[in-house]
Amino acid sequence: MPERAVFLDRDGVINLNRPDYVKSWEEFIFYPFAKPALAILAKSNFLIIVVSNQSSIGRGIVKKETVEEINERMKEEVEKEGGRIDAVYYCPHKPNEGCPCRKPNPGLLLKAAEEWNIDLGKSYLIGDALSDIEAGKRVGCFSILVLTGRGREQLPLFLTSPYQYDKIAVDLLEAVEWIRKREKGFSS
Ligand SMILES: [Mg+2]
Ligand SMILES: [Zn+2]
Repeated sequence: MPERAVFLDRDGVINLNRPDYVKSWEEFIFYPFAKPALAILAKSNFLIIVVSNQSSIGRGIVKKETVEEINERMKEEVEKEGGRIDAVYYCPHKPNEGCPCRKPNPGLLLKAAEEWNIDLGKSYLIGDALSDIEAGKRVGCFSILVLTGRGREQLPLFLTSPYQYDKIAVDLLEAVEWIRKREKGFSS
């Protein structure tokens, strides 16, 4: 049986977005609701997979190793509070490199789907930007826009985009609660 997943963008969804990039663990600030939300989601059968653009690597602002260390610590901190993150996929490229993995391209989602045997059409994506929603919709994920991070300022972009969110939630916690309701509970 194929798996189902909840894909999460990182910056602006789990932690505070920084226009100048999260460059160190000190700059990684969890939203207060993020760990509780991930603890609720951890009770589900969904794989929990982070998909993140990290062009700071390609721009030479942050080392790949640093990004991976930040992601590792994020996972550890989430686990301490009863949550889990099963995998983190990131794109290290710059926007002008034309890679298939930088959102709005769905490359990260396709790679995760192949490696984890995920049915994307039965999966969810939660993000704070049109680029997240576009990536999700291009592969058939039910896509939820959160209004944290860049969410609110991105709203006007949807007026002219062919890619539309399926649902808006104020934040990750509301998005997770909503998925739980839509799935008629998590403990199956
Ligand atoms: Mg984001
Ligand atoms: Zn890429």
